[in-house]
Amino acid sequence: MINVTKTFLPPQQEYQALLQQAWDTGWMTNRGVLVKELEDRLKAYLGVPQLISMTNGTLPIQIAIKALGLTGEIITTPFSYVATTSSIVWEGCTPVFVDIHPEYLTIDETQIEAAITLKTSAILATHVFGNPCNVEAIEAIAKKHNLKVIYDAAHCFGVTYKGQSLFNYGDVSTCSFHATKLFHTGEGGALFCKPEYYERMYWHHNFGHDGPEAFYGLGINAKMSEPQAAMGLAVLPYMSDILESRKRVVETYNAVLTDLEIQLLAIRDHTLWNFSYYPVVFKTEAQLLAVKTALNQADIFPRRYFYPSLNTLPYVDGSACEVADDIASRVLCLPLFVGFETQDINRVLTVIKTIIC
Ligand SMILES: *Cc1c(COP(=O)(O)O)cnc(C)c1O
Repeated sequence: MINVTKTFLPPQQEYQALLQQAWDTGWMTNRGVLVKELEDRLKAYLGVPQLISMTNGTLPIQIAIKALGLTGEIITTPFSYVATTSSIVWEGCTPVFVDIHPEYLTIDETQIEAAITLKTSAILATHVFGNPCNVEAIEAIAKKHNLKVIYDAAHCFGVTYKGQSLFNYGDVSTCSFHATKLFHTGEGGALFCKPEYYERMYWHHNFGHDGPEAFYGLGINAKMSEPQAAMGLAVLPYMSDILESRKRVVETYNAVLTDLEIQLLAIRDHTLWNFSYYPVVFKTEAQLLAVKTALNQADIFPRRYFYPSLNTLPYVDGSACEVADDIASRVLCLPLFVGFETQDINRVLTVIKTIIC
């Protein structure tokens, strides 16, 4: 069976050697040596001034909303994973959906201003499949209207835009280190923010503690544990192999699929991309379903991602988003993972060509 993704696992003895440090110290969590070392290594690898490792990629979004004191309406994209919208609602705010750009698939910045009301407190946008939003335009809008900017950068590990980490844009960016993501700690994630927010974000992720016997305010538990950090430290040295291997898959797909009448991801200029996903937008939903069925019959399981469009969730006021609704109905992410053999990639390509030619 070929699945849409396959978790990269480092050699088990390397993971165990790192875990040994947790045994030696007797610390399993509460920011032991492994979490601290992972944060230091990630700062250097990514080129970010600070980060806070967390237990998954959803809590940092919720903590960002809470710690920035956001209320009322948050302008967001309908084309993302459910965690983007659910975090807004979970924090008692109202998502206001702005449609997406038909090629970049990120929020259409030209439509943001029309959605701003007196209740708007922030923009929460997703860098879709590692493809940056128009960060300059969004920053200008936010400045003009005094709004905060949060980026769900779950897909953006290692992506740079104009020569620096994409995580450095916005007031806060969040990443996921889930096992299906490019870099992973099993479950895990991180929050990146402007220096002035760091302390506030930090105590929010640790119950609000100010030392063992005092509290700054309301907090939650989002701490990364030592076994999670050990996995991250075991995976990180393989990042260049991971990227190289995924690049080969992407290039093999590109060599065939660019000649077909289907839409591939358009990466924004000045971006060093990370080969995180291979989305294909078919001509019609019927064509997508035909391809998906044929692939499934060949024991190949791509994923409709992102589907459905988040403006159709049962707990939001679902007004239509024409482009996002349309793209979500036609987009399929093809299998992409380290060690995907050329003969298997070719099997995927052969099935696609048979259906759409
Ligand atoms: C994976 C993902 C998340 C959630 O991350 P978890 O680590 O699974 O909590 C949020 N947003 C997007 C866009 C994602 O792809």
